[in-house]
Amino acid sequence: MAAVSAAFSLLPHGGTVVVPDAAYNGVMATVADLEAAGAATVRRVDLTDTAAVVAALPGADLLWLESPTNPLLEVADLPTLTAAAREHGVLSVVDNTFATPLLQRPLADGADVVVHSVTKYLAGHSDVLLGAVVTGRTDAGRALHARLYRHRQLQGGIPGPMEAWLALRGMRTLHLRLERACANAAELAARLESHPAVQRVRYPDLGAIVSIEVAGGREGAERVAAATRLWVHATSLGGVESLLERRRRQPNEPAKVPEELLRLSVGVEDVEDLWRDLSSALDHAAD
Ligand SMILES: *Cc1c(COP(=O)(O)O)cnc(C)c1O
Repeated sequence: MAAVSAAFSLLPHGGTVVVPDAAYNGVMATVADLEAAGAATVRRVDLTDTAAVVAALPGADLLWLESPTNPLLEVADLPTLTAAAREHGVLSVVDNTFATPLLQRPLADGADVVVHSVTKYLAGHSDVLLGAVVTGRTDAGRALHARLYRHRQLQGGIPGPMEAWLALRGMRTLHLRLERACANAAELAARLESHPAVQRVRYPDLGAIVSIEVAGGREGAERVAAATRLWVHATSLGGVESLLERRRRQPNEPAKVPEELLRLSVGVEDVEDLWRDLSSALDHAAD
């Protein structure tokens, strides 16, 4: 969130920001607070509607993108949107936490700034809180970097040495962890499609997060989350262990997120163990 705050410091006071109508809830809360304080005008758009996002750009200062989004897994057309932002003189920021730099390179697609929650896949072991803000190796990128660096220095968002070391250590196996987690996610997504208690599978085939909407509404989803033994019902994602969460149990989760949605962060365990535990928990969704 310190990285997210640093990126929002690029928005001039009273400026206009275009944001997704549902994305990581800390970002949603940040823009809602800016709006309530009269510090920003907020235009909320459906990220999957490229024309609508482009139409919201004239006169804006900053375009905030996240793709795939947390937890709806909506995918934005990053090359088109970042090019349109540039054309309108709007700074583009992409939260690339879900895809990681191995699956998606927003700077190469034309983004000005990329943000990562290093807490998730990059560190990968659910034992560190850290963020990163990245700019391009261009003159414009270096100028942004100088502003972000100063913000970090003055606001105190400085990583501790232990956190930096844990993140470096985790990143050494990012390619291996991600390969396994993505293979597990693809297999589980395919099997979930035909489970009778699953009404919808959201899986863009980009990363290792799968969101499902289960039968029985909010209670059905709570029953499933309570019945798993290997999958832990917990916040966070991107670690070696599989977690799931009914996101709407969080009070400030956007209303666009269905009550019966479970976000699955697929880890690196044996896929048959994951399936056995999840499918038997789903068998109880309608109890
Ligand atoms: C978790 C998350 C964040 C915030 O990261 P923290 O490390 O928890 O501060 C930002 N964006 C996305 C997409 C996330 O999933």
